Amino acid sequence: MLPLERSCSSGARMSRERSWTMQEDAGAVKGHSPLPTQRPRINARALLGKPARQATLRESNLNMVAAHVFAADEPVSRSAIADASGLTRATVTRIVEILIKARILEELPPQPAGGVGRPVVPLAPARGSLVALGLEVNTASIGACVVDLTGDVLASEVLPGNFIDSDPSLTLAQLNQLGASVLRDAGDTSFEVVGGHLSLPGIISETTGILHLAPLLGWRGIDARQLLGNINPIDSRAMQLGNVTALASAAEATLRHRDGTNQNFLYVAGDNSVGSSLVINGEPFSGMSGWNGNFGHTTIEADGLPCCCGATGCLDTYIGRGNMAVYAGLPPDTSMASFLDQAAAHHNPRISAALARAGNALGIALADYVNSTPVKTIVLADNLAQLLPWIQPQLDEQLRKRVLASPWLMPVLEPPRTSRHAAMVGGALTVLQGVIANLHERLESKRWVSTVS
Ligand SMILES: [Zn+2]
Repeated sequence: MLPLERSCSSGARMSRERSWTMQEDAGAVKGHSPLPTQRPRINARALLGKPARQATLRESNLNMVAAHVFAADEPVSRSAIADASGLTRATVTRIVEILIKARILEELPPQPAGGVGRPVVPLAPARGSLVALGLEVNTASIGACVVDLTGDVLASEVLPGNFIDSDPSLTLAQLNQLGASVLRDAGDTSFEVVGGHLSLPGIISETTGILHLAPLLGWRGIDARQLLGNINPIDSRAMQLGNVTALASAAEATLRHRDGTNQNFLYVAGDNSVGSSLVINGEPFSGMSGWNGNFGHTTIEADGLPCCCGATGCLDTYIGRGNMAVYAGLPPDTSMASFLDQAAAHHNPRISAALARAGNALGIALADYVNSTPVKTIVLADNLAQLLPWIQPQLDEQLRKRVLASPWLMPVLEPPRTSRHAAMVGGALTVLQGVIANLHERLESKRWVSTVS
């Protein structure tokens, strides 16, 4: 067995290089642009099923109208909302007027009616009105984005760096600057920033907001909100926190919902460390705080190599990018693209051995999971999606060998619908979703609600 060095360094080394943006993926840079065909969006389905006892009739009607517009795949007319909701057209019209005035909805250009009659005015979530800031820390990058009610990313920036064993104060101060920078880049003074969300690769207390542990970052027991500080106009105390993999899996679920595909799946993603999130009926089963889903610390070999968590033989020591590179005799900061380029360019037995070792380890860990949990679909995201063509033979072999039900039902491996850094977009959407879920409160505070009946 080859010696393994932990791919850790002291302090964060960062290159200020614009590496990736959601807009580049979508073919645009700043401001509003043609909407990408695949973008996560607010999950408003829950509002449609909100029990009446939780809301007054007025609140309930308001939520119903908003939810029909946010849940629709296409812009929807007032009469279509009335038909679908059972509300009268007059009620729908009154509520829509309020929601347009409050910049929650907007009217799109009229479309000819399907026969005689007046043109139909489609309604859609308002663009560039209310926005939220999404922030993300990973072992190889930090990122920030601004997202509006349509799910459109108005600005985003990802800074690559090595954040393994990094200084949390320094890293979160850098993230503060990045957040302020993307809010400026969004370049529209007319929007209202309704909040922010910080995604972290670790275990977070829902009650105190303390990050208990992010093993590869080397962060323990830190108050991430306090270290991040305020990002004007967001008070850091109001910053929401969540686990990166759980947030990304929620974003994946919104895209799968739109495709009409299976809403029950295991989402596995990672770079230097691999996390998982079990999604049931479109919702992360274990919530957003990272108490579970530490898939990279599944034991593959009890007396294996040391892992950053303090145990030995964890999956991360096989498939973590830095660990895989070191096993192949390459520098620990070798990018996945460079690793795979070298694998493709010439036969290097050490690279081949590292890939086979990673594929076998991932297959063993997934087989354990599938044997104990009713999972039929596994989405492999981030580096794992890139690796899949290279490790599929070992993965399939281990799944066939170890999953008891495999002769009848082999789990299906799928690529993700989300882009990289889905967590920060998912986090921003979570904030906006909270606003939509409490519309009555918001409109009341703005004194717009008294006219809703
Ligand atoms: Zn471990």
